[in-house]
Amino acid sequence: MWKLMIHGGAGSMRPGKLDEGQEKVARAGLGDALEAGKAVLSTGGSAVDAVEAAARVLEEDPAFNAGKGSVLAHDGHVECDAAIMEGRDRRAGAVAGLRTTRAPITAARKVMEDSPHVLMGRGGAEEFALENGLEQVPNTWFVTAERRRQLDELLAKGSEAFDAEIKYGTIGAVAVDNDGHVAAATSTGGLTAKRWGRIGDSPLIGAGTYADDRAAAVSATGLGEVFIRAAAAHDVCARMRYCSDGLQTALDKVLADIKSMGGTGGLIAVSPSGEAAWSHTTPGMYRAVIGENVHKVAVFGDEG
Ligand code: ASP
Repeated sequence: MWKLMIHGGAGSMRPGKLDEGQEKVARAGLGDALEAGKAVLSTGGSAVDAVEAAARVLEEDPAFNAGKGSVLAHDGHVECDAAIMEGRDRRAGAVAGLRTTRAPITAARKVMEDSPHVLMGRGGAEEFALENGLEQVPNTWFVTAERRRQLDELLAKGSEAFDAEIKYGTIGAVAVDNDGHVAAATSTGGLTAKRWGRIGDSPLIGAGTYADDRAAAVSATGLGEVFIRAAAAHDVCARMRYCSDGLQTALDKVLADIKSMGGTGGLIAVSPSGEAAWSHTTPGMYRAVIGENVHKVAVFGDEG
């Protein structure tokens, strides 16, 4: 009954409009992340180990906006945010504004397991990661030519320009293990041309990431500012617990609420009983699911 669902960001991907090479690379990356999570879950491993393993693969893949290949902030630096949460006891860890830690999701897990805190930011978080043995790299290690081009293109439009084309690409993973425990992980470089110091929804517990064995594990992607205001990931769980909404209904309603506030994006979730669902208000979302009887990778809106 184990299951893993992942996303690689929601956005304006449409058949014929998305570069074929880009689509292929993204599908392959999602497939690799599924395999990494499956290796954990199919051998009796925990949901939290699986979401970390899947997220690590996507962070290392320059095709996605997390870890290497993150979008660039207005000042040309990469600043990574990440969070991880376990549904069993609602333990959580998160990091924000990391510039040198190679594996932001593992830093988030260290915060959860090896500190008394939930959220750590910037230099303090990097120092903590280093003390805990996590590899540090120069900020330029995260930067790709394509992300530099995207920033330059946006900046050329003027100082107020801000990722209007919605090339999100944040990554997330949610899983349920054979013991019925759920976990969620989200990792991102945020939005192109964000002001340095801006923190999105991804590392905020209850906004971009949430896991509760009484309801679901949830990971979000989209316009973070609105997901924060909607307390999106927690609202999915709250709807399930207080209103008896089903998983799909809860996702759809939260995204409808976000749309009414001017935000777009997507959500993925799994429940402790093994149900998995996704929803998005953008034309496409990089997403994939694997379980004992399911294996699916999808990009465009109508791919089931
Ligand atoms: N939600 C992320 C943020 O606002 C962006 C994304 O999903 O791509 O930082």
